[in-house]
Amino acid sequence: MNLILLGAPGSGKGTQAENISNRLKIPIISTGNIIRDLIKKNTILGDKIKKYIDIGKLVPDNLVIEIIKNRIENNDCKSGFILDGFPRTITQAETLDNMNVKIDKVLNMEVADKKILERLSGRRVCENCGSSYHVYYKPAKINGFCDICGSKIVHREDDQTETVASRLAVYHQETEPLKKYYELQHKLYVVEGKEEVKETMALTLSVLGI
Ligand code: AMP
Repeated sequence: MNLILLGAPGSGKGTQAENISNRLKIPIISTGNIIRDLIKKNTILGDKIKKYIDIGKLVPDNLVIEIIKNRIENNDCKSGFILDGFPRTITQAETLDNMNVKIDKVLNMEVADKKILERLSGRRVCENCGSSYHVYYKPAKINGFCDICGSKIVHREDDQTETVASRLAVYHQETEPLKKYYELQHKLYVVEGKEEVKETMALTLSVLGI
């Protein structure tokens, strides 16, 4: 199954992606995680990209498309994949369609902006593997360290309040129109992001029929 998870930053895409990935044994392709890795490794591409992330803007389409093309060609994607954070613009979605990649379902995680702000202020991520936590809703078992790989968990620079406002504005302007785009392709499924991760997960699994 080839899936896309759509939704605002902090809508729970990453958490749902982890659960689906565990169930279906298919990889998550998170452009945000790939980009953060490139920046960490001080690559030339990473340097070009950093200035966009820092101010909550989208990285230019051509750069992200290049990243995704390379990643989808990997062998581990042969039996399916979950796109988390891609596409984020109509141009990206059109490019994906032109790449001859068949998308089965697009799940849109619906969460009100007010809730998003609250979630991102408490969100913490593993600086190594990118696993996501929340100080109240999903605390790590050992405070400050990742349950999965044991590395440090941090409050992302771009999860700070001013940057979040900019990311939300970008989301509404550039990414939200993708709902209509995939609705017209009859692939869109709406999942209401609940307070409890378990409840949201149940909704997600029922939409996927798994
Ligand atoms: P995320 O972790 O998915 O919220 O992504 C973090 C940041 O990476 C975003 O705010 C963008 O600056 C950049 N980014 C991730 N995915 C994309 C994409 N598909 N298109 C453009 N920029 C992206």
